[in-house]
Amino acid sequence: MSIIDSVVVGSGPAGYSAAIYIARAGYDVKVIEGDTPGGLLITTDVIDNYLGFQNIKGIDLANTFKNHVESIGEKVSFTTGVVKTITKRLDNVFEIVLKDNSVLLSRSVVWAAGSTPRKLGVVGEDLNGVSYCATCDGIFFSDENVVIIGGGDTALEDALYLSNITKKVTVIVRKNKFRGNEVLANKLSQVPNVEIMFEKEVSKINDDGSGNISSVTLNTGEELDVSGVFIAIGQDPNTKEVIDNVTLYDNGFIKKSNTVGFFVAGDVCDPDYRQVIIAAGDGAKTGINVSKFLVTS
Ligand code: NDP
Repeated sequence: MSIIDSVVVGSGPAGYSAAIYIARAGYDVKVIEGDTPGGLLITTDVIDNYLGFQNIKGIDLANTFKNHVESIGEKVSFTTGVVKTITKRLDNVFEIVLKDNSVLLSRSVVWAAGSTPRKLGVVGEDLNGVSYCATCDGIFFSDENVVIIGGGDTALEDALYLSNITKKVTVIVRKNKFRGNEVLANKLSQVPNVEIMFEKEVSKINDDGSGNISSVTLNTGEELDVSGVFIAIGQDPNTKEVIDNVTLYDNGFIKKSNTVGFFVAGDVCDPDYRQVIIAAGDGAKTGINVSKFLVTS
């Protein structure tokens, strides 16, 4: 089996950016794209803080990134799949096993696997009508009442997006203020079909008897009649497949790699910012570091 110079796990801005730098330095790269090529970016409606694009849909930016990587030519190849394990062998070659049990061998790895939306952990979270992606599922609730849970940028952006499609959006924030961008928060507070409830939490999502949502119960005992529940309470970094190769911060994000030839990039190692532009820049830095490693190893 041939040994690739570098395998990049992740097809968000960090992974694609790393792949460009490694390939342009003359090395072969394979990008493992995962279940959702483009990563969390494709679940974002509009991005207006990525330098050079005043207003672009997440999916369009993701496609622009992918087209750029593809334009590099034969140095880059792609595969869809989900990584099961990554082991560094005694001969310093990484053995990457995918869920379908196919195996890739490489001299280096970039782990840019991003993060997964966090679950709320309440009764009813498995009902039809619970979603972690407003841009994917909002359309199913046109002219209906929905709640969105969370107070960060994702919740703010998703609530604005849903307010254009649905009848009414109730935003449930557990603190007495938003954690996300103040400009967005002010904008949201002026939208007529949006109600914001601070210092409240959803304690149960109720079944209408046929597996669909009829309402949510709040910790105050109030019940809100809704047919959709959007959960936007942050993300957990995807690390469990590589736990032996890295050191984590207390909050689960990757602090550093502890394996020579194993690199990390993007949201998975960013406990603080998680912006597309930062992930892309981090991928570029990592790509340069991988190239330096490959030239000396
Ligand atoms: P955040 O971690 O920023 O916010 C999560 C929100 O959910 C907080 O309000 C938090 O409350 C709340 N929360 C967490 N757990 C619970 C719970 N169990 N019950 C109720 N509420 C809960 O996550 P986001 O996904 O919003 O953002 C992640 C990162 O991505 C941020 O850095 C953000 O800036 C960035 N981002 C940037 C965008 C952009 O620039 N266009 C778009 C979207 C995200 P509390 O405050 O009390 O902890």
